[in-house]
Amino acid sequence: MRRISIFGATGSIGQSTFDLLMRQGGPEAFHTVALTGGRNVTRLAEMARALHAEIAVTAYDECYADLVAALAGSGIAVASGAEALVEAAHRPADWVMSAIVGAAGLAPGFAALSQGRTLALANKESLVTAGPLLLGEARAHGATILPVDSEHSAIFQGLVGEDIAAVERIIITASGGAFRDWPMDKLASATVAQASSHPNWDMGQRITIDSASMFNKALEVIEAKEFFAMSPDRIEVVVHPQSIVHALVGFNDGGLMAHMGVPDMRHAIGYALNWPARRELPVERLDLAKIGQLEFRAPDPVRYPALRLAREVMEIGGMAGAAFNAAKEAALDLFIAGRIGFLDMSRVVEQVLDEMSARQGLGNAAMSLDNVLHTDGEARRLAFALCDQKRI
Ligand code: NDP
Repeated sequence: MRRISIFGATGSIGQSTFDLLMRQGGPEAFHTVALTGGRNVTRLAEMARALHAEIAVTAYDECYADLVAALAGSGIAVASGAEALVEAAHRPADWVMSAIVGAAGLAPGFAALSQGRTLALANKESLVTAGPLLLGEARAHGATILPVDSEHSAIFQGLVGEDIAAVERIIITASGGAFRDWPMDKLASATVAQASSHPNWDMGQRITIDSASMFNKALEVIEAKEFFAMSPDRIEVVVHPQSIVHALVGFNDGGLMAHMGVPDMRHAIGYALNWPARRELPVERLDLAKIGQLEFRAPDPVRYPALRLAREVMEIGGMAGAAFNAAKEAALDLFIAGRIGFLDMSRVVEQVLDEMSARQGLGNAAMSLDNVLHTDGEARRLAFALCDQKRI
């Protein structure tokens, strides 16, 4: 029986993964090793019971007692905290879903790779902060990383049977997020509730706001550079409001291979779950005639400064990805807390990058897990300090 674990089981990706596992036979078809979550212990316990998991882990020690109570009598082991997440990733498994949100997903994903597992990677932040480390760890231990981000899954599928040397460029599509058609002068006063509503995709709140600011796409460009070892000048972003074409691969004969489908993450998750096979998935089929038209347009650099920042981060290299992601996460925390405006997020990130590049030479820093975590902490502290000191 295939042994699986889900890190971030209670989130949007985690629950879609659970849905597919249950449809493909649940505990009759899969041996569930570990399910992890954060504060939603009620849902975590339900899922652990449904899949007969070996262990359920909450990231937060203060949630431990509630999780123990919710799993009383089930025989399912319970643990809490960051170390317990890493220990759970060390348990023998064949397929591990990495769907924790943010840099917190790095250590468990890294631990799973160190054990030679197949890692279905939704947590793009891991590749942005520590791409060379993760890929090196996978190579060293014969582990496999499968992309789950819909754009990267689309590119991955477009490359099947192709010679990577024949790839000229990759094109990642972006819906443009909640404020795609808003006048620029309204953006400064955009609220958290307005930014949390995506026109096409149903996702977690953080990635939805990151879609509105295009920070999500910025992370994806860096993720693509790392995952496909593609030079930044060959990665393009195009705004595509319908979110039907997820990405395109351009070959040296001028041909473009597009991956299309309704915006439903269960396609990309299911592809990673069943890879290298394909299985029937419960996603709505496209009716192209009903859609009628697909639009594409260049992203506006003034509306979306995050894309320019991603280019700068790739140019700097080294620890710049870790600083960028952490500053972005801190800026998002500040926006959600109502302490800064929507447009201030990119200002915070840019200032953190500028100050840390000048002070610490981000590009020259050696890549190690410790260094990534240290840079992450520094960038978060600086972002909060900029806000506290009203220096934005
Ligand atoms: P959600 O916010 O919906 O879920 C995040 C998960 O991580 C939850 O299980 C949450 O627990 C858990 N979690 C939160 N904080 C921590 C922490 N500090 N330590 C450990 N676990 C934690 O996120 P999404 O499912 O939307 O996204 C997950 C990842 O997948 C992200 O990296 C995102 O960029 C990526 N992704 C998501 C897509 C989507 O459609 N949602 C598409 C492509 C990529 P709890 O809720 O119990 O507190």
